[in-house]
Amino acid sequence: MLRLQQLDGLPDGSLEIHPQNLYQLLPQPTLIHLQGNQPEPLFITVLMHGNEPTGFYAVQKLVQKYQHKALPRSLSLFFANIEAARHNVRQLENQPDFNRVWPGTQLPPCAESRLMQQVVDKMQGLHPFASIDIHNNTGLNPHYGCINKLDNRYIQLAALFARLTVYFTHPKGVQSGAMAEICPAITLECGRPDQAYGTQHVLDYLDTCLHLPELSNTAVSIKDVDLFHTIAQVKIQPETDFSFHIDNSDLLLDHDLEQMNFTEVNSGTRFGRVNVNGQLPVIAINPEGQDVSEKFFHLEQQELRISRPAMPSMLTLDEKVIRQDCLCYLMERMQA
Ligand SMILES: [Zn+2]
Repeated sequence: MLRLQQLDGLPDGSLEIHPQNLYQLLPQPTLIHLQGNQPEPLFITVLMHGNEPTGFYAVQKLVQKYQHKALPRSLSLFFANIEAARHNVRQLENQPDFNRVWPGTQLPPCAESRLMQQVVDKMQGLHPFASIDIHNNTGLNPHYGCINKLDNRYIQLAALFARLTVYFTHPKGVQSGAMAEICPAITLECGRPDQAYGTQHVLDYLDTCLHLPELSNTAVSIKDVDLFHTIAQVKIQPETDFSFHIDNSDLLLDHDLEQMNFTEVNSGTRFGRVNVNGQLPVIAINPEGQDVSEKFFHLEQQELRISRPAMPSMLTLDEKVIRQDCLCYLMERMQA
């Protein structure tokens, strides 16, 4: 049975504990409220995916810093998929992806979607200053922020973290999409897990946000931000078996795909070799949820090629992540 636990302080030991042992202190998803000088809280979500600990480490260090002095602003901390963190996996086999079940989700109602609704309802009542959801990824990606609304305050929140900002409206049911209806909201992508500099970067960013009196509504200069938007999410067809190294798999993906992350690629760029005849081995879905596979990819002499210029992101060599999430996103530059 999944229920939301709420506390007014962190349990003893939580500032030192390893994320895989957090379940010993917090057996359920837990929302913790810490009082600060400004009452409207900064809302921070960590461990939405159990094997993405950078946000958790940064929050530990942030709270340590204010252990003996007042927080400049209240903090609400949501520790999401603690069970998955225990096993160091994105999510358990019997769980949905925790970052697809927030209000606005297209998945059928479930215990996890009811839990996220409770979190949003509670936070709405507290009038949050801003919302930050912290993730890692597995590929070669720079640090960047993702926003779901083209509003100057949201772009500011992103520009404070990194020049590179991605605007997306699909997939649905993500934390920052739900929170964007209430306050400036961002998803942080902080590189691979367990990189110390990722933790430090996030810590500095969270501390900056804690001290902000407001997020200004003035336009962010185009010099300060590289704004891209997602034009498609690309998945492998469920019945297609794929690999980076098994020569006779239906789709043999190129080894160096990761190198294309955040690089504009030309029309005709190859993604891999196809060893079965017939339909495309990938599905591309645009932000409106339409299948645009035929516009984005084609087969040419058994090779899978992209059909238009685009900038891929989140390409990874991790086959499990590709199956659970997607092969990549395709983006293009926007004018800020
Ligand atoms: Zn994640």
